[in-house]
Amino acid sequence: MQEKTDVVIVGAGVAGLVAARELGRSGLRVTVLEARDRLGGRVWTDERLGRALEIGGTWMHWVQPHVWAEITRYGLSVTRGPRAQEAYWLAGDEVRKGTLDGFMELIDPGMRRLLAGTMDVIPRPDMPTSAAGLPSVDGATVQEKLDELDLPVEERNANEAAWVGHLNAPLDEAGYSSALRWTSATAGSWHLMHEASAIFRLAGGTRALVSAIAAETDADIRTSTAVRHIDHGADGAVVTTTDGTEIAAERVVVTLPQNILPDLGFSPRLSEAKLAAGREKTASQGVKVWIRVRGPITPFFAYSSAHHALSVVRTEFIGEDDAVLVSFGADAKRISPDDRDAVQQALRVWRDDLEVLEVTGHDWMADPYSGETWLIHRPDQVTRYLEQQQRGEGVLHFAGSDYANLWPGFIDGAIESGLRVAAEVAAAAGSPSRPSGSHTSES
Ligand SMILES: Cc1cc2nc3c(=O)[nH]c(=O)nc-3n(C[C@H](O)[C@H](O)[C@H](O)COP(=O)(O)OP(=O)(O)OC[C@H]3O[C@@H](n4cnc5c(N)ncnc54)[C@H](O)[C@@H]3O)c2cc1C
Repeated sequence: MQEKTDVVIVGAGVAGLVAARELGRSGLRVTVLEARDRLGGRVWTDERLGRALEIGGTWMHWVQPHVWAEITRYGLSVTRGPRAQEAYWLAGDEVRKGTLDGFMELIDPGMRRLLAGTMDVIPRPDMPTSAAGLPSVDGATVQEKLDELDLPVEERNANEAAWVGHLNAPLDEAGYSSALRWTSATAGSWHLMHEASAIFRLAGGTRALVSAIAAETDADIRTSTAVRHIDHGADGAVVTTTDGTEIAAERVVVTLPQNILPDLGFSPRLSEAKLAAGREKTASQGVKVWIRVRGPITPFFAYSSAHHALSVVRTEFIGEDDAVLVSFGADAKRISPDDRDAVQQALRVWRDDLEVLEVTGHDWMADPYSGETWLIHRPDQVTRYLEQQQRGEGVLHFAGSDYANLWPGFIDGAIESGLRVAAEVAAAAGSPSRPSGSHTSES
């Protein structure tokens, strides 16, 4: 027997849950189908190494308006890791030790030059697809743009490592557009961009946000329920799960990450632009590793280069006899987050006085329900695909951080897209509480 509802949402990550909450408020019956046995998708607070660790998305900031509104709405509190008292970086093979401020001064000239034209290229970060200057630079990689600066080796290593921390990708695959979009969202300030993406986190973990949103929706949320196929036409759609359940709906919101969208069956097929982006894959393909080391240690920050297995590492939790570090590398194939010996070896690039006790993480790249970490576009993907990726097709709508305007690839972007698509669906469904219309103001 076929079930019936008004809207099916595929995926209970942040975008899907926000869309479910908003559509429920519009008076629509909503069913959310989530493949995993938990809510949150690419945000996942889990108890490991004796702490509540963020295995996926973590940091947020008040310059990210959508996530900050949620923090205010639910009265969530924000915290941060210990301030680094030491910093390590490399000048070729030589290890330099200094302060974090010293490191920031070192990368400042490169950052400024790399990002100098940001606000000319993308004057309105909330409207990237209207940025007239973007197509002419969208074909460049971050590596090409850094190479043009011809920086001395110490500055080059440091800038490259900092960008790996941001982009989670080999820099010769990462589109320059991502660097510009992030910096445009902070009005051209690279310092603020840096702070926005890596300092403040929720005291109760991202699970506090996920459960607050889920608690506010009366949607029928089903975990461990993967969608296999969607048949759609002018009057509605039928969503089929892997166990053969069929649910008929007037509208469907799909929130799958770009890289795995082609794995879902659609009849008729989705437009080529949506599938092509997924087949090309994101540039981001990196790894996030949590590392427990013997303590006590002094909180530190360390940057190597884009070519090392781990480019960035820093102290995130400090205990009396241990500390937990978080680390990022450009390529998940270079190092496993479960390989203690390899991680110990990677840390020796800077220091041989740290004893690694335990390591953990998640292979998001190999996970069939994400296939990526956080979205970083390849060259030309924004120009070629973004507008089409955001566009609904008949009764199908597409939400997700990957398709956000302001902070793509961030939790903020997931919320932005969930809100936008919910308004779109409510308007299409003729819901009484639908928004009166959208407008864009030009300044
Ligand atoms: C390691 C890592 C670090 C990050 N760090 C940060 C950070 O510090 N700050 C920040 O803001 N962002 C960060 N992000 C990014 C942020 O977590 C994501 O952009 C955001 O959570 C994506 O939300 P979403 O709802 O768009 O997608 P997702 O969370 O991916 O949600 C999609 C949902 O669809 C489900 N699904 C997939 N296939 C199916 C199917 N066939 N049927 C049913 N359900 C399906 C998935 O299980 C998932 O729950 C990070 C991400 C990772 C992985």
